[in-house]
Amino acid sequence: SPAFSGKRFAVLGLARSGLAAAETLLASGAEVVAWDRQDVAREKLAGRARLADPLELDLTGFDGIVASPGVPLNTHPIAERARRFGVPVIGDIELFAQARAALAPHKVIGITGTNGKSTTTALVHHILESAGIPARMGGNIGLPILAQEPLPQGGTYVLELSSYQIDLTRSLACEAAALINITPDHLDRYDDFAAYAASKARLLAMQTPDQFAVFGCADAPTEAVCAAERARRAAGRAICADRAGLAERQAEWPALQGPHNLENAAVAAALCAELGVDRDEIRAAMASFRGLPHRMEVVAEHRGVLFVNDSKATNQASTAPALAAYPPEPGAAGGARPRVHWIVGGLPKEDGLGECEAHLGNVAAAYTIGEAGPRFAELLSGQVRVERAELMCQALRLAYAAARPGDVVLLSPACASFDQFRDYEKRGEYFREIVAMLIGEPARPD
Ligand code: ADP
Repeated sequence: SPAFSGKRFAVLGLARSGLAAAETLLASGAEVVAWDRQDVAREKLAGRARLADPLELDLTGFDGIVASPGVPLNTHPIAERARRFGVPVIGDIELFAQARAALAPHKVIGITGTNGKSTTTALVHHILESAGIPARMGGNIGLPILAQEPLPQGGTYVLELSSYQIDLTRSLACEAAALINITPDHLDRYDDFAAYAASKARLLAMQTPDQFAVFGCADAPTEAVCAAERARRAAGRAICADRAGLAERQAEWPALQGPHNLENAAVAAALCAELGVDRDEIRAAMASFRGLPHRMEVVAEHRGVLFVNDSKATNQASTAPALAAYPPEPGAAGGARPRVHWIVGGLPKEDGLGECEAHLGNVAAAYTIGEAGPRFAELLSGQVRVERAELMCQALRLAYAAARPGDVVLLSPACASFDQFRDYEKRGEYFREIVAMLIGEPARPD
């Protein structure tokens, strides 16, 4: 696209989205100075872009600094330097927004929230494709949007946007946008919770008053953004997602179980209806949605025991609905028996288990692992049966031995994974492998 011809950009961080941004800028005739602290990353642009650290550059006359969302703008010196030279710090999503005019006529859906972004984004993408609308998903999921083939006329880009990505975006006006929820997370990168919430709200603020927005509205901060957006928009252009209207169908959607997925489904349905997809078609596509790995993923069912990998639950707000998804089943004698064998722990992000405590009635036993293990064991003991395990393999062996038909062995750690694993994906893969070993069947790949 000619959008950037003759302009001058510095690109900081050359992993996936940064590299795609540099390639796009070069292809459209921009002058690019690129930098990554790793040599191997820099080499990918050798001979095509000037390689220099923007912290040491005279940035006079630059049109932008493209930073990767991994650069912590609250502490990184590039933010101060950019301010000094009056150069905007942007990301690949902003470049996409600026290049939109040159693309074939299309729509953009933007989705943000603390939890449920990926699930909702993948679900919207699936519904649109099922309805015959050409769609691409990108942003915080899949391939960088600038690395993907542009869509034909009438297509829709479905963008998952983290708050870091929104911080680097200033002119993305989405035809339809969603804010699923706002709960405490990533507070290391923001001054306080209000700043984090404000970052999410900017996705909505970038829209024009006639564009459409849908809100989860299950928490006060999201409701507040919804109210503010209602006030500045035309009637019906900012709505609360209608969970109740979908509830009776949820049993038919295997990959969308739990109260949180009802919220995600309601948000996705509103977005797709806004794009003109028929209500019946939306519901049919929910039934054929396969879900994403590591999010309430059923990895095996063995002798009536369900093994569920929810490794992506890295904060307590995402673990709470996982526990809520499996209420006790009424027993033969009339009493109800809790049935969740809950593997919990890892690198703690917050103190305590917050909202999870409301669902302990569903927990048959908790198996604590990782750095948070001792603290969680202390918090939970007296409320549920607790087994201190330290390692996931020990926890799984204990849970496997204790689980009865009808029970659920659930990994939903409410913690980051970095104390014992490379990332949440590795943690989930390890869970799958051990389950496969215990039940004597090969593990299913993603
Ligand atoms: P994100 O991309 O925002 O991290 P995911 O769809 O990957 O969201 O889900 C992350 C974790 O949060 C998973 O454990 C999932 O089960 C849980 N989750 C998904 N949707 C919600 C929601 N609406 N509210 C709370 N937790 C959710």
